[in-house]
Amino acid sequence: MLSRYFSYQQFEDALKAILKTMGQKSLSDIEIGKSVKDRSIYGIKLGTGKIKILIWSQMHGNESSTTRALFKFIKSDDLDSLLRNISLYIIPVLNPDGTENWTRLNANNVDLNRDAIDLTQPESRILRSVFDHFNPDYCLNLHGQRSIFGSLDGDQPAQISFLAPAGDLEKTISQARLKSMQVINAIHGQLKNKVNGVIGRYSDDFNINCVGDYMTSKHVPTVLFEAGHSGDDYSRDRVTDLMYESLKIAINTIKKGAVIDKYDILDVYNSIPRMNKSYVDILIKNYQSISGLKTLGVQYHEQVKEGVLYFVPVLIGINREDVLYGHREIDLNDFLDYNNDLILEENLEIRSKSLDIGIFY
Ligand SMILES: [Zn+2]
Repeated sequence: MLSRYFSYQQFEDALKAILKTMGQKSLSDIEIGKSVKDRSIYGIKLGTGKIKILIWSQMHGNESSTTRALFKFIKSDDLDSLLRNISLYIIPVLNPDGTENWTRLNANNVDLNRDAIDLTQPESRILRSVFDHFNPDYCLNLHGQRSIFGSLDGDQPAQISFLAPAGDLEKTISQARLKSMQVINAIHGQLKNKVNGVIGRYSDDFNINCVGDYMTSKHVPTVLFEAGHSGDDYSRDRVTDLMYESLKIAINTIKKGAVIDKYDILDVYNSIPRMNKSYVDILIKNYQSISGLKTLGVQYHEQVKEGVLYFVPVLIGINREDVLYGHREIDLNDFLDYNNDLILEENLEIRSKSLDIGIFY
């Protein structure tokens, strides 16, 4: 299986291997366009059923968990039964240049999820063209989120999150949004006891340049998936499994079809916890400075060097009131000698000979 960071070549090799097991298609048969840096973008069609679902992943290049979940989904033993009555169109990586370089943006430094109307980038135009020609009944918009999100009302990391985006400024509860909410409610119901933390719900502020908002404005139910962080899952293997489960639940819910009760759906959807930026990767407590005890917020900055993903611990704040929790918490009262050993400057890498806090894969 692909690890959290993979080069685009590794992705293409994995895709080639999957196509081989499914039949005879070669990569060139499924190429649907090119990125800014002339890398191929692929579209996979699965199933021949009536209900059409468009799925794309990694429009942000440094969000790979859902791409790995899609591979797992395509290889799953129950794929045939999942595809009954369903036609899928999957773009497993929309942003190859960002994937190669582990950046959110594409090679022109544009956020493809803010380009839905302007369509300034080739990758945005490819997605729009597939949307227009495939004419989906549902869209699944797959992303990953940073390790900063917790529930609004307590000490719970948001391991996975979802959104039924608005289709207009008034955030009208349209039939399309109800259908998206119904999918999210099913995932929440079946996975809420399996997550480490909570399942979160994103804000539905409307922005027509976000792809999900645009598609909802065209009356196509669209679900935003966000693979998040919890505990020490920096490989994001556990959340990849949760995204795989979420995809299967989504497909099975879509199959069941119609919206039954608007108010039931809204009640359940609104009960899913809203999110707050309350987490850091590491919270270091009781650091003895000249002016007293301090709490240090440390966030990993992700850097790819020669094919290896490094998590570099950077001090992002001292006694910050908005940072309440750490995925890992270190109390320096338990390690009194370590106070002398930390080299601290805001926005710089934290260095320590004795605290073992760097990670790489
Ligand atoms: Zn994203």
